[in-house]
Amino acid sequence: MSELFGIIGNPIEHSLSPLLQNEAYTLNGIDAHFQAFHIAPEDLEKAIQGMKAIGVKGFMVTVPFKAAVIPYLDEVDPIAKQKNAVNIVQYIDGKYVGFNFDGEAWLKALLEDMGQKSLRTEKILLLGAGGAAQSIYHTLTQFAEVHIDIANRTLDKAEALKKLGDSHPHTHVISLEEAESKQEQYDIIIQTTSIGMWPNIEESPIQITNLKTGAFVSDIIYNPAETKILEQARKSGARTQNGMKMLAMQNALAIERWTGQKVSYPKMMMSLKEALHST
Ligand code: NAP
Repeated sequence: MSELFGIIGNPIEHSLSPLLQNEAYTLNGIDAHFQAFHIAPEDLEKAIQGMKAIGVKGFMVTVPFKAAVIPYLDEVDPIAKQKNAVNIVQYIDGKYVGFNFDGEAWLKALLEDMGQKSLRTEKILLLGAGGAAQSIYHTLTQFAEVHIDIANRTLDKAEALKKLGDSHPHTHVISLEEAESKQEQYDIIIQTTSIGMWPNIEESPIQITNLKTGAFVSDIIYNPAETKILEQARKSGARTQNGMKMLAMQNALAIERWTGQKVSYPKMMMSLKEALHST
């Protein structure tokens, strides 16, 4: 019998995961179907119970349920617990177990595009302190020698994020204005806010005018493919990356966890580009 996988969120109509997943199943001979489920927040518990009852073997979790889903899962992996956010759930021996691969997928995508095996002593600017930033920051704290400045509109949230990585020795919280004025100091700038996302494509959390030679700017937004900050960074001579590879890697990782089968994420990226081009 075909397996059923899915994604829960609200809104969920514009998710590209059903396209990526169902295409990957067809291309890789996986007998499964992937469905997007729009869920009202007050129905979350019933929805999780219902998915288990009908045999959904794995699902992705997106806004606004990444933290809210945790009480309704049977187990949560320690990293997802620490981040207080789950983005992939797997059915294991009768239990729904929650994981978080946002940070891991972002790091893999970054290192691949930078042509590096690891981070070393880079000076990093993390713009934003929301859910995605939390996961990325947690992943960055494994590199004790990097320097991380977290800049966010709401400084309290950036301070709370810094506490997440208490053992990381070189993290500072700064304002967006300070980040803009110190931009030439950074080797890597990571844009994790929702500023610049379609349809507000002319907005940017900081104006890029003066980057360090060789700087790398990573924006996790994938629609548009080139946000304002990436456009300014490219024009300033920086290497840039959008969020498509991170999204494709997340979907590939989910399939690997659920089915044990490795699928090609570059193919997913091509489908993403085509889908976004046609919207
Ligand atoms: P979130 O938890 O809602 O966090 C939003 C962040 O943006 C916060 O830091 C918030 O600052 C900041 N922000 C929003 N509007 C702002 C404004 N007008 N001025 C200044 N700061 C503003 O969202 P999230 O889940 O982290 O997602 C953030 C973005 O990442 C979204 O565009 C999402 O699509 C993208 N994303 C991409 C992937 C991928 O696979 N490529 C994965 C996850 C997320 P405050 O704290 O001050 O509110």
